[in-house]
Amino acid sequence: MSTERPKSDQTVGVNTRLAHGPYDPRLQHGFVNPPVFHGSTVLFPDVATLRDRARQPFSYALSGTPTTKALEDALNELEGSAGTILLPSGLAAVTVPLLAFLSAGDHCLVVDSVYHPTRRFCDGTLTRMGVTVEYFDPHIGGGIAALMRPETKVVFIEAPGSHTFEIVDVAAVAEAARTGGAVTMMDNTWATPLLFRPLDHGVDLSIHALTKYPGGHSDVMMGSVSASREVWPQLRATQLQLGVNAAPDDTYLVLRGLKTMGVRLERHGRSALAVAEWLASRDEVAAVLHPALPDFPGNALWRRQFSGSSGLFGFVLKGGGKTGDAFLNALTLFGLGFSWGGHESLAVPSDLSDRTIAKGPDGGTLIRLQIGLEDVDDLCADLERGFAAARAA
Ligand SMILES: *Cc1c(COP(=O)(O)O)cnc(C)c1O
Repeated sequence: MSTERPKSDQTVGVNTRLAHGPYDPRLQHGFVNPPVFHGSTVLFPDVATLRDRARQPFSYALSGTPTTKALEDALNELEGSAGTILLPSGLAAVTVPLLAFLSAGDHCLVVDSVYHPTRRFCDGTLTRMGVTVEYFDPHIGGGIAALMRPETKVVFIEAPGSHTFEIVDVAAVAEAARTGGAVTMMDNTWATPLLFRPLDHGVDLSIHALTKYPGGHSDVMMGSVSASREVWPQLRATQLQLGVNAAPDDTYLVLRGLKTMGVRLERHGRSALAVAEWLASRDEVAAVLHPALPDFPGNALWRRQFSGSSGLFGFVLKGGGKTGDAFLNALTLFGLGFSWGGHESLAVPSDLSDRTIAKGPDGGTLIRLQIGLEDVDDLCADLERGFAAARAA
């Protein structure tokens, strides 16, 4: 009998790989799930091993435990990466790699439709450190070559863009960055590695808010950065220099979430597309911003690069801010709140006041929806309540 489990077998489907491993139950008394190691100290059998501790798989909990290793292994397999670090939030998974690859005097190119807290870090901490930050049009493609300077060290992309859902030509941007000597980082939270694998398109570092679909139940915050072989040593060294890793129970929750991520994501994606199509048919709606809709400007690029769509998209409700507020206040199933990727549907008004290029569509109030695991008919009935309130406003 082979001792090799299906875990590392890329010929089996991704759901099979999510369901099995990446750990071996026989090494944990047959229990199917990995134990949660709480710890700080790791003991060594003798002084020689303590001095030469890199030869031991674990030497101190800050650098990893069997629990964090199980999640890192699972993400490496999904991303096709050489190494993954875990961090206590998705935002930390954005800031740590930026700190790892930027120094005073460097230039950093960031897509204008980036997640707002990423921009806040760039305009705040990075700028204070002496890094010059420049924002670029998400539709720039290979044209980014014209923005590259000798001191450009990082190109940061996110696709689809936060709130406005622009699709970036990832391979074209990554190639121009590489030619110019810069590292490309991509916030891949929307797609998860199931719908897009950045490293296959020339990106060096793939970033995730594990808080979203991998966690999947609105009960945990965590982030990850998965790196190519070339940049892995510097990423890992920076994590250890800064002294940040993920907590054991949180790591376990994300490991558990991964088991069902495939089926959840399929449902989130299907329901979101159904709601988006329904919204597109409404007179009250000026535009639906969903990459899988054929008339969305990024649709062809999305189809070429992504293998599916997840549950987050936006739409423009005709009318001013008061109409939008009335719509949102009338919703009962959709909660008003940030974050996404959990089982429950959420709605937020989009604030694009930070944008300099990707200013979003005109024609009304932009609203972002996260479609949860509820029944689509119930969600549409809730949105119908919103439309009635908006008409009365
Ligand atoms: C939510 C989010 C993050 C940050 O994740 P947290 O775990 O909430 O810190 C980063 N990027 C994107 C695109 C997100 O939506």
